[in-house]
Amino acid sequence: MPIDATQPYDPANIFAKILRGEVPCDKVHDDALALAFRDINPQAPTHILVIPKGDYVSWDDFSARASDAEIAGFIRAVGEVARAAGLAEPGYRLLANVGAHGHQEVPHLHVHIFGGRPLGPMLEPDR
Ligand code: AMP
Repeated sequence: MPIDATQPYDPANIFAKILRGEVPCDKVHDDALALAFRDINPQAPTHILVIPKGDYVSWDDFSARASDAEIAGFIRAVGEVARAAGLAEPGYRLLANVGAHGHQEVPHLHVHIFGGRPLGPMLEPDR
């Protein structure tokens, strides 16, 4: 069910539980500002989620409230995770779903990294 990205942060969301160690994850990266783990329902041969450690609902919330250090650390982590997964060449796709029209389901900012095969056109045509 897509979320309302303007809602206050919900500390009971599944990624908050992963950050607190209450729910396991298949971790691929962990630093002071970001955590990355494999998506439980992969949509590509490589499908990794990167999340900031701070309490941010969405890209909209993060870009408005996070410090420059948090933003820089998060963006660097996304690139490092993709490189470490061997995706820099031949390439990969980043996706951050935001709110209802973006079909965001988990209300903690996450960037999807997809790779491992040619990913096709960016969006499905309008139906
Ligand atoms: P989004 O629609 O952008 O909010 O995507 C949420 C993503 O989180 C989906 O791709 C889910 O498969 C993934 N997901 C949900 N729960 C977990 C979990 N416990 N561990 C890993 N990935 C998860």
